[in-house]
Amino acid sequence: MSDDVENRLFQNRYVVDTGKPHIHVVPHETPSEELKAMVHVCPAGCYSQNEHGQVEIVADGCMECGTCRVVCQNTGEIEWNYPRGGFGVLFKFG
Ligand code: SF4
Repeated sequence: MSDDVENRLFQNRYVVDTGKPHIHVVPHETPSEELKAMVHVCPAGCYSQNEHGQVEIVADGCMECGTCRVVCQNTGEIEWNYPRGGFGVLFKFG
């Protein structure tokens, strides 16, 4: 990612809805290849893999791009909703 893109993304702000994350990863033993890919694909770096190989999400900073929703739509491993009004990403335009 170029400095220009990173600087522009840095202008955005995020309001955390404490205790009410808008994306959940369903508990699993072994993640699908699609879910594992999200560790590298999510532009906000929300996904990580723990020491047992399971994929976890911290949705703070999610840009609501919907990539994980699309990539994992057939695996049933993600529950995805928009944040409640007033929470989530606040894009700075211009
Ligand atoms: S919607 Fe986009 S930014 Fe948010 S967790 Fe999914 S891939 Fe990451």
